[in-house]
Parts: sequence; C-alpha cells; structure tokens
Amino acid sequence: MAAENCVFCAIVEGSVPADIVHRDGDVVAFRDIAPKAPVHILVVPREHIASLDDTDAGAESVLGRLVGAARDLARSEGLAQDGYRVVVNNGAAAGQSVDHLHVHVLGGRDLGWPPG
Ligand code: AMP
Repeated sequence: MAAENCVFCAIVEGSVPADIVHRDGDVVAFRDIAPKAPVHILVVPREHIASLDDTDAGAESVLGRLVGAARDLARSEGLAQDGYRVVVNNGAAAGQSVDHLHVHVLGGRDLGWPPG
C-alpha cells in the first residue's frame, strides 16, 4: 500500500514523473534525478517499505528481486564488464534521504572506496 507523501510511492503509482527503466510485479527502477555517476539507477519495491531495517526474514523474496533487478540493469546498461556498485543507505548516518527502501546502481566511472 502506498504511503502518503512518499515520492517513490508516487513514482511507482505514476503520479510523479520519472525516467522509468524497468518495472515488473515486484519492483520499479528509474534514473536518479541527481545522478552521482554516469549511470545512476534506483530500484524500489512497489510496496512501501521505509528502509532495509524495516524488513525481516519475510522480505527475503523482495530483497532478492531488488538485487536481481539491479544486476540485470547493470548488465543492460553495459556496466558489468568494467564494474559497478550496488548500495543501500539505511538511516540518517548513512545519508538515507528518502524513506522508501531503494537500491542504488552506480557505474560508468571509477568509484572510490571507501565511500564518504
Ligand atoms: P538516499 O540518499 O540513499 O535516500 O537516496 C535517495 C536518492 O533519491 C537520491 O540520490 C536522490 O537524488 C534521489 N531522488 C529523490 N527524489 C527523486 C525523484 N523524484 N526522482 C528520482 N530520484 C530522486
């Protein structure tokens, strides 16, 4: 069920525009509005889940779908050979700014480590 005032729920529903690159019964993926790399895609569950920490063992299927979609998008975006990063920011200290679970797929340049 969609959460009120959640921009990613609104993107999933289609009431906020986004550059959608994938959608299926479980997840939706779209390009980040402020990309941090040449390719920067967000993969989100259709269901409103606030964060990774708001999941438990019952969410393993949707977590698998998120990571699987990230892998498939990295391949289709041509990132697999050179490498890419899949990131989940959880909570304030990690910089999570949208309270709807999302997986970042970043690639197309060398990515420094450790992240900030
Ligand atoms: P995080 O900081 O991990 O919560 O990541 C949230 C990401 O959502 C940021 O990289 C934002 O640039 C991105 N973002 C916020 N609003 C939108 C939007 N309407 N469409 C696409 N990306 C967005």
